[in-house]
Amino acid sequence: GAGVDTINQVLTKLQKKCATPLPVLRHVADSMANDMRAGLAVDGGSDLKMILSYVDALPTGNEKGLFYALDLGGTNFRVLRVQLGGMDQRVIATEAEQVSIPQELMSGTSEELFDFIASGLAKFAEKESGEFQLSQGRNRELGFTFSFPVKQTSIDSGILIKWTKGFAVSGTAGKDVVACLNESMRRQGLAMQVSALVNDTVGTLAGAKYWDNDVMVAVILGTGTNACYVERTDEIPKSPGQKSRSGTTIINTEWGAFSTGLPLTEFDRGMDAESINPGEQIFEKTISGMYLGEIVRRVVLKMAEAGSLFGNSIPEKLQTPFSLRTPHICAMQQDTSNDLDAVGSILFNEAGIESNVRARQIVLKVCDTIAKRGGRLAGAGIVGILQKMEHDMKGVIFGKRTVVAMDGGLYENYPQYRSYLQDAVTELLGPALSEKIVIEHSKDGSGIGAALLAAANSKYK
Ligand code: ADP
Repeated sequence: GAGVDTINQVLTKLQKKCATPLPVLRHVADSMANDMRAGLAVDGGSDLKMILSYVDALPTGNEKGLFYALDLGGTNFRVLRVQLGGMDQRVIATEAEQVSIPQELMSGTSEELFDFIASGLAKFAEKESGEFQLSQGRNRELGFTFSFPVKQTSIDSGILIKWTKGFAVSGTAGKDVVACLNESMRRQGLAMQVSALVNDTVGTLAGAKYWDNDVMVAVILGTGTNACYVERTDEIPKSPGQKSRSGTTIINTEWGAFSTGLPLTEFDRGMDAESINPGEQIFEKTISGMYLGEIVRRVVLKMAEAGSLFGNSIPEKLQTPFSLRTPHICAMQQDTSNDLDAVGSILFNEAGIESNVRARQIVLKVCDTIAKRGGRLAGAGIVGILQKMEHDMKGVIFGKRTVVAMDGGLYENYPQYRSYLQDAVTELLGPALSEKIVIEHSKDGSGIGAALLAAANSKYK
């Protein structure tokens, strides 16, 4: 009947608009490379901020001694210590703890928040056992992963631009977050100092490179997305005086803000318009875990409204933004049974939908379309970075084995997404070159990465 026709029309149009054949992927990869270049030329020259990380000493494997890391990026903070034994012994011991941040501190004062963190860190440091040994005459050193927008000014300083992710702490914006933490540690009587301020993507790259020297790029695909890579200092026109002993530095692309040439739909535009940051983070809204489920919900809602996909009633839950989340669409895609029972119960539990098998099959096609577009565009973005690097440093990428370190819950848990991403990389590079590119999952590398960066940037050498 008319409903079936409407549903098929919505699906066909969606598949057409979301299609990522090779020419589209190529255009996205080329645009990524161009936008990277524009962002390196002048501040504000592109959607991509291309932020200098001031990390030019990456871990080599020779690091020795006791180092700490602190990761603040959400409603928890994580602390970690690692005893490094140099090239032969590598990581001798690690210990980590997680502390949740009380709601009231997320909207309190800067001093209250940093004092709470420093006091957690001090309690953790007190529990140092015999396998951890501080070198004679040294203070404890800390790598600080701070996943909020900062304007970094050196490896160990950075000004907070604004709090995000539900934090509304007064008195930090415009201040150096390293100084804030150092002062709180002093107030707590904790003899420890920050040696490296680290973005989480940069931490992932450092952590992965410690184990595998061929790592040149790191990508996070979790709730949000970002990427960083090794760049030559003389390819950064906006920062002409940039010194680095290695001649290279890590650039944090902030690629979530990329937007050129993406195949978008009315559903993406609707979601963006109702988001807290309309017009921003368009690549992130197309490929990352926070949004894939919500895009699917919007398509399915339209099919229910315009084509009665689930009969005449439209459950309220289905009309609620973010009721379907990416782990749900991922779980539905793992259902290979004939009657799609698991799909049926997820739709019922999460969106209040009673469905028949035909409707479940349609929903699965929508999930696949959105996951496929996301995975393939992420792959094209990675190839864009690799192309930019190869162009400026002939042979550095395709002349040998090159590793892209991946972290994040989306990449880790969504097998279809992962294989769509790999397909796009292989299609774009062709069989010969894609053999040289290894995409490797580097789980939770960023915590130890921050400690390694504290070691590589130690005040004592
Ligand atoms: P974050 O990015 O929030 O720091 P993670 O890297 O752990 O933390 O990523 C969490 C995100 O990963 C979730 O928001 C979700 O989008 C995605 N995710 C988690 N589990 C799954 C899953 N089973 N299938 C698909 N995506 C998942």
